[in-house]
Amino acid sequence: MVTYEEFITRATAVESQIASACRASGREPGAVRLLAVTKTHPAEAAGFAARHGLAAVGENRVQEASVKRAGLVAAGGPGAALRWELIGHLQSNKAKLAVETFDCIQSVDSEKLARRLDAAAGELGRTLVVLLQVNAGRDPAKFGAEPEDAPRLLELALACPHLRVEGLMTIAPLGADAAETAEHARRTFANLREMRDDFVSSFGVALPELSMGMSGDLELAVAAGSTCVRVGTALFGGRPGVLPAG
Ligand SMILES: *Cc1c(COP(=O)(O)O)cnc(C)c1O
Repeated sequence: MVTYEEFITRATAVESQIASACRASGREPGAVRLLAVTKTHPAEAAGFAARHGLAAVGENRVQEASVKRAGLVAAGGPGAALRWELIGHLQSNKAKLAVETFDCIQSVDSEKLARRLDAAAGELGRTLVVLLQVNAGRDPAKFGAEPEDAPRLLELALACPHLRVEGLMTIAPLGADAAETAEHARRTFANLREMRDDFVSSFGVALPELSMGMSGDLELAVAAGSTCVRVGTALFGGRPGVLPAG
């Protein structure tokens, strides 16, 4: 885990990387939000993000996020006001705790999960913001609805009274080397963008959010129209037990 000073240096660098990627593609710098991915790091990481003025953090496990969020809320201060977003795969039997813990679930990838989340949000008297995760790079190792199943999933999610579908999320598959990884990222992000644009016209709905791009591919994602980059390693350093990406 980095110190707060190191975090500020890293965050400033990531923010200027986002701003220059925006300029390079003729987009407003404010068009892309930075979601700080704090998974596996102590709750302090989320506290750093809040102190720096970031509005939201991303986590991939419900239980871990629930504990961290409760701690920050109890401590008061800027960390108490953070928005929490789930970016990891969710089993539908954890829907209720997930709805209690998160403001947004970016990883809705099946009709069953969408129905469970809708029911849980209804029980809690809430409307839950969701993104649909699509395996736009057709990575066999990744979760996400297959592109051909995405229209049905969207149709179902739009019909759920307690869900508000704001857009799509994807993770690009890694390649054998940097060049292939970049090629996969370009293709994956272009696919997701195109799918979103098709859905907007065929369903007649607004889907403003395109969550794509991580530490290693955020510039390509911004160029392809990302509105949310999910960044962990570049902000907080390597995750415990996780080897640095080669
Ligand atoms: C861990 C994770 C990230 C952040 O990845 P980094 O390479 O550390 O920036 C982004 N999105 C998802 C879905 C993740 O699980």
